[in-house]
Amino acid sequence: MVLRLNGLEAGYGSKTVISDVSFALEPGQILAFLGHNGAGKTTTLKSAMGLLRPSAGEVLFDGNRIDRLSVAERVALGLRLLPEGRGIFPDLSVAENIDVVAARNVGPGAMFDIPDVYKLFPVLQERRTTRAGSMSGGQQQMLAMSLAILGTPRCLMLDEPSIGLAPNLVERMFQQVRDVCKSHAMTAVLVEQNVAAAMKIADRVIIMNNGQIVFDGGPDEARASNFWHYF
Ligand code: ATP
Repeated sequence: MVLRLNGLEAGYGSKTVISDVSFALEPGQILAFLGHNGAGKTTTLKSAMGLLRPSAGEVLFDGNRIDRLSVAERVALGLRLLPEGRGIFPDLSVAENIDVVAARNVGPGAMFDIPDVYKLFPVLQERRTTRAGSMSGGQQQMLAMSLAILGTPRCLMLDEPSIGLAPNLVERMFQQVRDVCKSHAMTAVLVEQNVAAAMKIADRVIIMNNGQIVFDGGPDEARASNFWHYF
């Protein structure tokens, strides 16, 4: 198992938002992580990434506890988060964004080095000198995705990556996520309000409600479940 959460509990101040969250993901698996606004999906991702300290439970990566590691240490292991609202440097050019992150995350034998991300998203090559914040939403999202995968990503968590993107772009980007997962045994966790798009590439579905997992199973089983009416 790549990422395993065991009985995770986390919140903000004295308010517990998620409790008893447990799941384990295999290499190459694509998880659609669904639920209403405020269900606790982002809180779960932040806890796994180390942006939020859980009040109980464990986070394991490749079978080793990582819940005491810093965010940077988790990134180095291959755990990556593409945060809601995009994680780019808007005032830097495309190439500067890529170079800065590559300098930190790309080591010898990396799965994705600078030429690899330009190959994956050729439009970024054309836009190398453009200020990142001035590009369209779709191009910014491609840049954010490039930054998240530079180096050797083993588990990529994407928080609402489709926000602000045209439907055809969403489809194309999700297919690229699927291709990378299947060709590089990368695991993906996809938090999405665009449930239809996420379901097209998902192997597995977890539904959260009120801070707890209420469903965990395959896409067909999810569609047939009592929880599908949420969507
Ligand atoms: P969304 O799609 O709206 O992001 P979500 O399932 O990701 O939904 P979370 O963002 O994890 O949900 O939020 C879960 C709960 O935690 C909500 O009630 C939210 O108001 C609360 N919450 C989130 N971030 C904070 C914060 N920084 N401080 C206090 N409460 C927060």
